[in-house]
Amino acid sequence: MAQQEETLADYLASQNDLVQEASEALPHQFSQCTYALGPLRQAIYLCLTCPEARGICPACSIVCHTDHEQIELFPKRNFHCDCPTRAIAHPCGLHTILEPVNESNTYGQNFKGLFCRCHRTYDANKEKETMIQCLACEDWFHESCCNLRERPSSRQPSPERKDDETKEDNDDDALSTTSSGLPPPLIGPSDYDTFICGECVAKNTILMRWAGTPGCLMVIRDTVSSTWRVLRSNDEDEAETIEVVAGVKRPSLLSSSDEIGSKRLRLSPSASVPNQCFAPPLNLTAQNILRDGNPVMESDSTLGTGDIFLTEGFRNRWCHCQTCQPSLEKHQYLLVEEETYEPPEDPDSGLSLEELGMRALSRMPRERAINGIHAFNSMRDDLKNYLRPFAEQGKVVNEADVKSFFESLMEERRGRDNQ
Ligand SMILES: [Zn+2]
Ligand SMILES: [Zn+2]
Ligand SMILES: [Zn+2]
Ligand SMILES: [Zn+2]
Ligand SMILES: [Zn+2]
Ligand SMILES: [Zn+2]
Repeated sequence: MAQQEETLADYLASQNDLVQEASEALPHQFSQCTYALGPLRQAIYLCLTCPEARGICPACSIVCHTDHEQIELFPKRNFHCDCPTRAIAHPCGLHTILEPVNESNTYGQNFKGLFCRCHRTYDANKEKETMIQCLACEDWFHESCCNLRERPSSRQPSPERKDDETKEDNDDDALSTTSSGLPPPLIGPSDYDTFICGECVAKNTILMRWAGTPGCLMVIRDTVSSTWRVLRSNDEDEAETIEVVAGVKRPSLLSSSDEIGSKRLRLSPSASVPNQCFAPPLNLTAQNILRDGNPVMESDSTLGTGDIFLTEGFRNRWCHCQTCQPSLEKHQYLLVEEETYEPPEDPDSGLSLEELGMRALSRMPRERAINGIHAFNSMRDDLKNYLRPFAEQGKVVNEADVKSFFESLMEERRGRDNQ
């Protein structure tokens, strides 16, 4: 019996240690709204329960809108948390001074819960496709809407159709997607560093200029009945190329483009660049696609969306001549990789989860604290159950274990909310 008691005591002691470790492993504090820090590039959440199409910071998403249904919009630059402002009726539990409505925030369609050029809603549980964020507008795009691969069949026109065979893992690993019968994307995640959508490319002189040149990949098709392919600057079968040498444009012979004759390049004199410009020769195919107006609206007739995929090291490859530099300076993210705000390390990390939880609760408004206590207790029990095997096997709990616990908890919660 003594043996067993000792084991139990050890077990309880190790449980406490584990809870302690878990709290230490929770790397960030979520006790502070980012409002006071001003506009930042930060992960923004859209609360679907609150009626206002505004954005809230990670701490507010956890503390102030705990029981609300939310979608993570991921980083948005220059964003000032809306939770403590008059724009959102639900009170902020972290920044308790009621602040004026933010004037500097911009709210794209993501704040209406719509994404991509197809303007679909997003449901983490149902979305079969990998989505890609545009560096410029920070909207999200389906791979199929960028013509990287076919739309999975569950996304085909008949919306009621449910097909388990097309069930696909959400990760972007080419292997897992081929196992679902889908070909790998034309340009895979490891083939490029940054994506910029066609609409943003068309608004930016330097991106227009570099589209389709080395390190600036595009997906195109040669005719409306051809299959989509990657436009490479050194295409052997590239029918339309143009060289800019010492200010002289020398288009090569155009051979196979009669059927798209109306879409031929219309270069204005102002498009020529000064001699000292080091931009690579224009890619005429890319120019034609980008000058074709709004390719997105006519998806059946378009030869490309104008999207570009910038490969590793693209920030070091720009030309800084007087023609190129101004549009780079207007879009700093093309020059310097932006920092995305992360909540500070938690100074309370020496406290147990219970202590941390009670602290968080004491900062909440009364009626929400009661719900919070239930939520917190059940979370703590779940965490203990999750950690039990570690205790039994004498395994060390690391941050990844705790993270995966919270991820599964979030998933479960999302699953519940969506029922
Ligand atoms: Zn906030
Ligand atoms: Zn809310
Ligand atoms: Zn808040
Ligand atoms: Zn789409
Ligand atoms: Zn964009
Ligand atoms: Zn230049």
